[in-house]
Amino acid sequence: MRLKDKVALVTGAASGIGKEIARTFVAEGAKVVIADLNAQGAQATAAELGGPAKALGVAMDVTDEAAVDAGMEQTVQTFGKIDILVSNAGIQTIAAVDELELAKWKQMLAIHLDGAFLTTRAALRHMYRQGTGGSIIYMGSVHSKEASMLKAPYVTAKHGLIGLAKVVAKEGAKHGVRANVICPGFVRTPLVDKQIPEQAKEFGISEEDVIKKIMLKDTVDGEFTTTQDVAQAALFFAAFETNALTGQSLVVSHGWFMQ
Ligand code: NAD
Repeated sequence: MRLKDKVALVTGAASGIGKEIARTFVAEGAKVVIADLNAQGAQATAAELGGPAKALGVAMDVTDEAAVDAGMEQTVQTFGKIDILVSNAGIQTIAAVDELELAKWKQMLAIHLDGAFLTTRAALRHMYRQGTGGSIIYMGSVHSKEASMLKAPYVTAKHGLIGLAKVVAKEGAKHGVRANVICPGFVRTPLVDKQIPEQAKEFGISEEDVIKKIMLKDTVDGEFTTTQDVAQAALFFAAFETNALTGQSLVVSHGWFMQ
C-alpha cells in the first residue's frame, strides 16, 4: 500500500484517465475525492470505488473559483487533510487556427490553465498550513512538448502546465510540496473517441486512418497508451517521498515523443 492514509483530490475523475487514477489510488490505500463537472458521474464513481470511507464525489467546475475552494474545503472537512492533487479535468476541440472561435480558445484555456491554477492554489493553502508536504500532479500530454494541427488551444494550454509545475516546484520546495507533469500519448477515452470522427471529417480521411496515420503513426509499436499506464505514472509521482523528483514531466506514449 504505497498511499496508505494519504488523501487525494482528482479532478475530472468521473471518466477516463482520472477515474483510473482514482481507482489506483484507492487500491493503494488513499482516500480519494472524485471532483467533476458531472456531479452524477462523480457520485457514481465514488460509490463504485468503495463509498464514504474511501471515496467522496464532489460536484466541481474547475473554472469556478468558489466551487474549487468549496470542494477543497469539503475534502479537508471530510478526510482531515489533503496530500495529493491531480489536476486532470480537460476537454478537446478540433479546429484550424484561422477558423477557431475566441469562445472555444477561452474555454480551453480556462479549463486546463485556470483549472490547474485554482485547484493548485486551494491545495497549496492547506498543504502549507498542514506542514506535511504534498504532491501536485498535472495531466499534461505529448502536446505539452509537441504540436498537432487543429489543436492550437490544447497545445498552448498543455505547454503552459509545464511552466506552472516548475514555479510550484520552486515555491513549494521549502514546504515539501512537489509538482510534476504526466504527458500521455493517445488513450482511448471519451475525449479521444469524440475527436476521431471530427478529425476524419476535417482531414477528409477514414476514421481508421486517423488512428493509424495520425494518432499512432509515430509510436514504436502502433499501440494506444492505456488509462492504467497513466495511472501507474501518477502513482509513481504521488508516492515519491522527497524533493528529488520535482518540476519534471514524464512522457508515457509508446515512444511517440522521445526526449
Ligand atoms: P474524459 O473525457 O474521459 O474525462 C474528462 C473528465 O473531465 C470528464 O469526466 C469531464 O466531465 C471532466 N471535466 C470536463 N470539464 C470539466 C470542468 N470544467 N470541471 C471539472 N471537470 C470537468 O477525458 P480523458 O481522456 O480521461 O482526459 C483527462 C485528461 O487527460 C485531460 O486533461 C486530457 O487533456 C488529458 N489527456 C488525455 C489524453 C487522451 O488521449 N485521452 C492524452 C493526453 C492527455
